[in-house]
Amino acid sequence: MCDFIADQHVHPDYSFDAEGSIDDYCRMAIDMGLKEICFTTHFDADPARLEYEGYMVIDGRREKLSDEAVDHYLKDVRRAQEQFSAGGLMVRGGFEFGYFPGCEKMIADLKSKFQIDYCLAAVHGIGGLCLCIKEQARQIFTQYTMEQMVDRYFEALDQCAATGVFDCLAHIDVYRRFGLEHFGPEIMTIHRGRIEKLFETMNRHQVGFEVNTSAIRHGLHEYYPNMDIINLARSTDTRLLALGSDAHRPADLALDFDAATAVAYELVPYVDE
Ligand SMILES: [Zn+2]
Ligand SMILES: [Zn+2]
Repeated sequence: MCDFIADQHVHPDYSFDAEGSIDDYCRMAIDMGLKEICFTTHFDADPARLEYEGYMVIDGRREKLSDEAVDHYLKDVRRAQEQFSAGGLMVRGGFEFGYFPGCEKMIADLKSKFQIDYCLAAVHGIGGLCLCIKEQARQIFTQYTMEQMVDRYFEALDQCAATGVFDCLAHIDVYRRFGLEHFGPEIMTIHRGRIEKLFETMNRHQVGFEVNTSAIRHGLHEYYPNMDIINLARSTDTRLLALGSDAHRPADLALDFDAATAVAYELVPYVDE
């Protein structure tokens, strides 16, 4: 069913908020007939925070982000790559880097030391508050108007794309997750006249975007980003690079991909029958 398709946004249990080992996911991917799985464990390092708290979970223990931790994770991915390639599964190792101003130096340094197959970048919040945690999202919504919030969000994404160290931007309208209920349906088109500058920057630096199906898990009817944004991106030749479930447990792998492949048709090879 999914034999031509890759899930390129997957959190194994190296991410603090995820469950399921790399092997658990690979077995699930083979059962589902996926062609490829790309792991994108969280890497959140804010250089502005002296008491920086970013970590990875290794063998059930929280370990501070370090070269050793990165090496451990990537070696685990490479081992799985060898183990599961016989079953027809391509396994790739990347990160979902939380974007913080100045983090690009650290990421460029990591890229020079390690083979990182995929650098996905995400802006998860505004002013230290997270858009993906309901209480914090509500705080953001009381501090800013919808327009101010979205302007700040896209400004951060714009800076992120301009660093030139990332391949792809994750869930580029994730402000809808809790924002739709708070602000109402106007949020579905608030990007118009705002996101175009971001697309220009993405095109200049060859950064693509993903279709992220986790919006369905969050009770929304449209993926991240919504159809209006996808169509705008197409009209500006901004590249749809990946399809991702943002799975945080194996059962969520390739969520809704049957329908999503119709939306992200660029990623499905043409088969002449
Ligand atoms: Zn994310
Ligand atoms: Zn993610």
